[in-house]
Amino acid sequence: MGRYLGPACRLCRAEGVKLYLKGDRCHSPKCQITKRKGKPGKAPRARMQKVSDFGVQMREKQKVKRMYGMFERQFRSFFQKAASERGVTGENLIRLLEKRLDNIVYRLHFAASRKQARQLVSHGHILVNGKRVTIPSYLVREHDTIEVHERAKRMTLIKDGLKEYSRAGVVPWLEVDPDALTGLVRGIPQRGDVADLSGVNEQLIVELYSK
Ligand code: SF4
Repeated sequence: MGRYLGPACRLCRAEGVKLYLKGDRCHSPKCQITKRKGKPGKAPRARMQKVSDFGVQMREKQKVKRMYGMFERQFRSFFQKAASERGVTGENLIRLLEKRLDNIVYRLHFAASRKQARQLVSHGHILVNGKRVTIPSYLVREHDTIEVHERAKRMTLIKDGLKEYSRAGVVPWLEVDPDALTGLVRGIPQRGDVADLSGVNEQLIVELYSK
């Protein structure tokens, strides 16, 4: 199956939660979740259907997968890696997802959304420890430095991303220099540090894949 090319807000409406797919626009009152628009294709007052346990687990997985813009195969391989590591599988999964290079570029506000961040990485505009990395799923390590390539520093996309830095600052496990367009991975996030996943129950994903 190819990548979803339809309206991003439709995905949030299908899941009934904010997936933050459009960067700073997701904080605007125009956000379709804030405006309480119903599920796509359903009448506003359509009766709620009873959802099975499997359905609940499936929706939770889809939510997280869509947030990080991943395909099923890759998401499952992240899960397998998380399950093979020591510790709590669900928390390992979130940590691994957060360590993806496209996510780090987004968290450093060099892009307004993960989709744009993925584009920056795959087009070769991002350097890790001084070397160009073009794989969005590349996993960063503690103390890695992330840098925007000299050639890309004037891109409008990056300037737009940095507007969100002025509004919200940067997450505590990263450090950013918005003038030099460089960042540092200070540490690896703990589950509680990932505020925009506070509504996610990763244990449901573990249950789904453990069947
Ligand atoms: Fe659209 Fe709101 Fe979802 Fe952002 S969070 S993609 S604005 S519905």
